[in-house]
Amino acid sequence: MFDKILIANRGEIALRVIRACREMGIQSVAVHSTADADAMHVRMADEAVCIGPPSGTQSYLNMASIISACEITGAQAIHPGYGFLSENANFVQMVEDHDITFIGPTAEHIRIMGDKITAKDTMIKLGVPCVPGSAGGVPDLDAAKAIGAEFGYPVIIKATAGGGGRGMKVAKSEAEMEKAFRTARAEGKAAFGNDEVYIEKYLTTPRHIEIQVFGDGKGNAVHLGERDCSLQRRHQKVFEEAPGPCITPEERAAIGKICADAVAKINYIGAGTIEFLYEKGEFYFIEMNTRLQVEHPVTEAIFGVDLVREQIRVAAGLPMSFGQDDLAINGHAIEVRINAEKLPNFSPCPGKITQYHAPGGLGVRMDSALYDGYSIPPYYDSLIGKLIVHGRDRPEALARLNRALGELIVDGIDTTIPLFHALLAEPAVQSGDYNIHWLEHWLEQNLSAD
Ligand code: ADP
Repeated sequence: MFDKILIANRGEIALRVIRACREMGIQSVAVHSTADADAMHVRMADEAVCIGPPSGTQSYLNMASIISACEITGAQAIHPGYGFLSENANFVQMVEDHDITFIGPTAEHIRIMGDKITAKDTMIKLGVPCVPGSAGGVPDLDAAKAIGAEFGYPVIIKATAGGGGRGMKVAKSEAEMEKAFRTARAEGKAAFGNDEVYIEKYLTTPRHIEIQVFGDGKGNAVHLGERDCSLQRRHQKVFEEAPGPCITPEERAAIGKICADAVAKINYIGAGTIEFLYEKGEFYFIEMNTRLQVEHPVTEAIFGVDLVREQIRVAAGLPMSFGQDDLAINGHAIEVRINAEKLPNFSPCPGKITQYHAPGGLGVRMDSALYDGYSIPPYYDSLIGKLIVHGRDRPEALARLNRALGELIVDGIDTTIPLFHALLAEPAVQSGDYNIHWLEHWLEQNLSAD
């Protein structure tokens, strides 16, 4: 086992990893930008190294600085958290070239899944069900129109290098194809330096269901059921739960086995998430994330496992501490993402926290790097905390969420807390009856800026 791990991240996820390290008796090294000198992860880690100025590109994305920090402190492994360098195959390569262990999948797996066309092609070969669409890239507008005619409108044009909801455009008819095709290509080029696109049938009322998988890199893998993340704004998740309110045990076992077998076959190592759209009882693969997800705590809650601990174990060459038969679902868990954002426009709202009080009590977990007097810097993601509740069933989890939100105090800035108070009063949220478009429609009707 490692003696010392460096965490190449900040905020709540850095704390999450430091906590796992401490429970395992491993020393932790925090890295930070000059803007984060007073951040909680710096205070909580055993050691801290400043790796650059405030901008992410010069600090948390600065590969050379991070490797140097490892060498100075003698850290043997790097946990990347999520975002930043967590899905950067070149970084993984560089880490390995310096004889440091990357806590996550291989550069090759990250590369395969990072290119959506290659990922989809790989999944088709592994027997995972995918959205019907073009076989690979679509070179020009004529080819795009032919695909539209073959599969029927609406279709979605997606940049193969896309991510974070960028580089995707819907065409409802052939008349809309030209503009959608050109825009998706231009966005792919501008944001990711790659203008290759592919086309899929656009599903009109799907839910977002993702399967948590975990492999040991030696051909063994398990699944930890699904998370339903259908409540999204601009393709970004805001409310996640497990198990999915509409998934039966039979469906879970079937799609879970397909996913676990697929990652076992490629000797996948560590945590991964296979994302699907789910409509009328069918699953359609959209992408695989080769890292820990923001919403992993809901899975931890219902299975009673520590996914970060498992990541560290398999990276050190140890077996997973559980097999498929050891994994049983207990109750229901929900996570809401607390962002430093001002409603109704969700504009970023950094600033000084004048008062912070985290909720507590049975079945409540607050993952956050906030503290009284902390100043949220304007340079990074607006996620400032995740409130996770666990109950015996969905109604109990919802009631607990309502109670815990009432206890949570974040003063000094605007946050998305009022959004969740309002959502919990909605019958559709109470019943779990919605698809991935529901929240956008609800926001238009209830939180319009006018
Ligand atoms: P990104 O990597 O940018 O997050 P994804 O491929 O994961 O892109 O898709 C993000 C979201 O876009 C999905 O959760 C869903 O809301 C929507 N989406 C993607 N593909 C389709 C599709 N074929 N039909 C309908 N919606 C889609």
